Amino acid sequence: MSNIRFKALELAISRPKRSIETTGKVSDYFGENTFNQAVMRQYLSKEAFQQLQNVITKGEKIDRRIADQVATAIKSWAISKGATHYTHWFHPLTGATAEKHDSFLSPTSDGKAIEHFGAGELIQQEPDASSFPSGGIRNTFEARGYTAWDPTSTAFIMDDTLCIPTIFISYTGEALDYKTPMLKALHSLDTEATAVCKYFDRTTSKVVATLGWEQEYFLVDTAIFHARPDMALSGRTLFGHASAKDQQLSDHYFGTIPESVMDFMREFEYEAHRLGIPVKTRHNEVAPSQYECAPVFEEANMAVDHNQLLMHILEKVAKRHHLTLLLHEKPYQGVNGSGKHNNWSLMTNTGENLLSPGKSPKANLRFLTFLVNIIKAVDTHSGLIRSVVASASNDLRLGAHEAPPAIMSVFIGSQLSQTLDEIEKSKINSDQAESAVEEFSLNIPKIPEIFLDNTDRNRTSPFAFTGNKFEFRAVGSSANCAKPMIALNLALAEQLRVFRKEVDSLIEKGANKEEAIYKIIRRYIKESKRIRFEGNSYGEEWTTEALKRGLANISSTPDALKVMTTEEVIKLFEDHDVLSRREVVARYEIDLENYIKKIQIESRIIGDLSHNHIIPTAIRYQNTLVENVKGLKEVLDMKTFVKLSNSQMQNIKEISEHISIVRQLVSEMIDKRKKANKVDDTTEKAGLYNTEVLPYFEKIRYHVDKLELLVDDELWPLPKYRELLFIK
Ligand code: ADP
Ligand code: MG
Repeated sequence: MSNIRFKALELAISRPKRSIETTGKVSDYFGENTFNQAVMRQYLSKEAFQQLQNVITKGEKIDRRIADQVATAIKSWAISKGATHYTHWFHPLTGATAEKHDSFLSPTSDGKAIEHFGAGELIQQEPDASSFPSGGIRNTFEARGYTAWDPTSTAFIMDDTLCIPTIFISYTGEALDYKTPMLKALHSLDTEATAVCKYFDRTTSKVVATLGWEQEYFLVDTAIFHARPDMALSGRTLFGHASAKDQQLSDHYFGTIPESVMDFMREFEYEAHRLGIPVKTRHNEVAPSQYECAPVFEEANMAVDHNQLLMHILEKVAKRHHLTLLLHEKPYQGVNGSGKHNNWSLMTNTGENLLSPGKSPKANLRFLTFLVNIIKAVDTHSGLIRSVVASASNDLRLGAHEAPPAIMSVFIGSQLSQTLDEIEKSKINSDQAESAVEEFSLNIPKIPEIFLDNTDRNRTSPFAFTGNKFEFRAVGSSANCAKPMIALNLALAEQLRVFRKEVDSLIEKGANKEEAIYKIIRRYIKESKRIRFEGNSYGEEWTTEALKRGLANISSTPDALKVMTTEEVIKLFEDHDVLSRREVVARYEIDLENYIKKIQIESRIIGDLSHNHIIPTAIRYQNTLVENVKGLKEVLDMKTFVKLSNSQMQNIKEISEHISIVRQLVSEMIDKRKKANKVDDTTEKAGLYNTEVLPYFEKIRYHVDKLELLVDDELWPLPKYRELLFIK
């Protein structure tokens, strides 16, 4: 009999490791596979270069003649780098990236061929969209979808293919991707934030959102990974008893990176750098075999594309090292899961960070304006912000005392809290006499510089201010950052719009500008106080306290998503022209469908593994025990036999019980699944999967994991936690 677990272990232990050639200086090859500014300058006429820059930075429309020039330039550059194909590269709602490669080949009438790539190929393509999720928007008979070039994200070459970042929309113009609404949300944020900036500095002409993500992931030996059908099919272990040692000793975080993993890191960083992804930081994370990588922050749209690209590179390079990348939020029970912190801020066209406290009172008022408006936005739109991090896999991580809870709150640190408290309590001279404008003195508390060095950091908050940016920590490791970026930037855009209306109306009534701003901010501080929490967000007390404050604590995806169909959220999306009602509802359907399918697949795996792996193995071992007892009975006298066989009989009984309970629970779970499948309404069906099917996972697992402890190690077919977590 062959046990695949032992074959996998043997392979994993004996395999020679891949060694990496040195790559030279980063500055020599950074961005060499991208159509970056330097390349543009080289390949484009002065006029075309300038126009393209205007398209990129000012959002101007590109004219056909320039597009032709750009296409010719990109083609020449790509061919000079050895590219033979091109593709429109986009992010459909599957969460992955999509590409369909076409060759540059164009046959000529004389039986030969040329390489062709024109403005038509650059600007727009018409892929068959029928297999991508549309949430009912696209009928199967109208399968056409369009991809359209996004000039604000840099084109790049992967392997032998020129990749053009694009948006993806249906024949009737509805967005079928993440990028389209994100670009619209970023545009709205720009409009609103720029207008607010003009209160302080007339020369501000543009505001961009900046994003620096931190990508956490696990690595596992590929052979061992493939011996676990649950991991191969769902990305996580559905069974598995805890390893005697895992993260208790806290010896992994920031520890020495193992040589084999270091080689993998060197190689993926090299690939990432050639593609212009500014990855900078690497370290071990809390759990064994868990790591993190982070880049220097970039403009949000570029950063999102770079994260999508990086996830792909990580996976690809890991394979070369016989490692499998796990982006799942919770691959292992009992050890930390993986997130993707989104560090988010705003930057003006002059390169100023709007979340950096300034030196002058005026600059500080601007800082406070944005800080307070963000807090207010998170309070007002907390439901939306919670919903965009919801997924079947992230449900396993949020609120598990190692990741932020499902309660949205904002941490700003004690120094800033004090500042806001002072403002809240402050009196403005003109409070008494509305007309005494000239008496108004700007009483902005001095912002202490100390928090700039991140002295007090709270790692339990889902949304923390860290000196000059906010860190949204609830995002899952496998997520497309576009989703949180849409929600945060849209929420803030709306908040700033409201803010400006209120300020303008006070100014109209005769208040001076600073006074008006100060007054509104002071009111916002009061109104949004409940969302601010400085304590331990993992603690039980916070759950109670949050309830008192009226903050939502939504632990499951189907419940978190419900907000998407409320009039409030639909209006928000429509008011800012980010998504139409139809598009919002379609996305809700897609997210729910995805949830249902994920739970359904896991439930099937649990059934299959129980029946085909666990129960037969347990029975085989049980038979051995039974044979042994029979043998003892033959050779021992009755009295000794009774005395000695007692514990063995107990063992047999225990195993039988676990087997029978597993059988019973699996059959009940299948019945519940069948019942849920008969329901047509997606909301109801997702609810049933959550409340009726999902609870069986833990129950079944409990007994399977007990069996793992009882059954002879020689027989156990699934690699164990100690092997998954420690061999590489
Ligand atoms: P930590 O793990 O302590 O949170 P890291 O250094 O791992 O810190 O990550 C910090 C991230 O924040 C980096 O990706 C960094 O580029 C990003 N960041 C720094 N400043 C900004 C900013 N102004 N806007 C967006 N992201 C930023
Ligand atoms: Mg961080």
